Amino acid sequence: MISSTLQGMAERFRRPSALAQIAECEGAPLMQAQAVLADGEPPASPLAQMGNDGHGFVASAITLWRDSADSTPIQWGEAIAMACSDATAAGLDAWTVRCIQMCADFARDLVQKYDIEPDNVLVEHPLDMAALGFAAKGTADLVLVIPGTLAVVVDWKLGYVDQGEADDHDQTQAYAAAAAETFNAKEVLVWLVQPRAEKAHRRTAATYDAETLRANRAWTVAVLNRSRSDAPQLHAGYGQCCYCKAQHRCPEAKRFIMDTREALHVLGSPLDGEGYADLISAGKLAEKFADTAKDMGKAYIMAGNAVPGWKLGTPRATRSVVDVPAALADLEAAGISAVELARNDALSIRVGGLPDAAEASIAGRIVEKLSSPPLTADKSTRTRA
Ligand code: SF4
Repeated sequence: MISSTLQGMAERFRRPSALAQIAECEGAPLMQAQAVLADGEPPASPLAQMGNDGHGFVASAITLWRDSADSTPIQWGEAIAMACSDATAAGLDAWTVRCIQMCADFARDLVQKYDIEPDNVLVEHPLDMAALGFAAKGTADLVLVIPGTLAVVVDWKLGYVDQGEADDHDQTQAYAAAAAETFNAKEVLVWLVQPRAEKAHRRTAATYDAETLRANRAWTVAVLNRSRSDAPQLHAGYGQCCYCKAQHRCPEAKRFIMDTREALHVLGSPLDGEGYADLISAGKLAEKFADTAKDMGKAYIMAGNAVPGWKLGTPRATRSVVDVPAALADLEAAGISAVELARNDALSIRVGGLPDAAEASIAGRIVEKLSSPPLTADKSTRTRA
């Protein structure tokens, strides 16, 4: 019997953004609650914090425009510029500020396209998640409402993990179903906006009609109910285990890695696609497990504990320029131009990080060279637990 305290702690892991994980491994919320209880909360990733900070500035651009509508209107361009300059003053890097601008520009375009009244532009708006079975409230980054007709939900993803497309994203379907409940909308359009992703994934949309919304709601309720049962099943795989906070303690994740290793050793190469899927998943999970294990072990030793057979080595120095614009200015002042740096292989341009207009201006100089194709998760052909 699982204690009500642990079940209660597990609720924080039953959130819309974890729906895909729970669908694959219904025991994940409880396992993570147990791991955090035993080991404490792992430190938040600085990259995730960067995403959170970015959200705040996108919200401030939209609210500046919206809340000024009744008094002295602030135009979109001015509101966005103010939010971006606040973000720069707060120490956010130039690329994150550009991502904030792209999101705010996108919000402006949607508001203008659907001719939404300022009062119906809702920022960081709580959605009614109870009908879907979530105990915690969900918050939509932006909701535009055409009363009784359409709700447009926008989810900003400012992090570095490419989340694929909106119509293959479990969190967006949960938001759509919740928005339909909250706003009594017949149709919900969800936009997934992720400025750091590949161009094809930067802005994707999915539309949900009443029938799809009903089916999504029923599926979400069933997934969450299974995770609250007394004996929720664990099911390991790369997608669900990769960011799981219980990974280092999970017997199922370890068994998955070891069984696949054993099968490779005893049986040789897999016979079919399913076999290769398990092999790749186990290999990638083992890499992740190794990183987690090394980080935890290092932290334990650095805290002054002894670990037989292991000690900390001498840190290797890496030399890099932190403030590149300032370094370029110094070099120019010393008579060394960017062109000379490039000729000496000391400078490169990351085309993928450039805004579209800048990329267009050097388009004729860009050549493409294909690397070996990376292994990428294909959610459209994944198997569900
Ligand atoms: S590590 Fe994987 S199998 Fe274990 S609880 Fe987490 S998601 Fe489930």
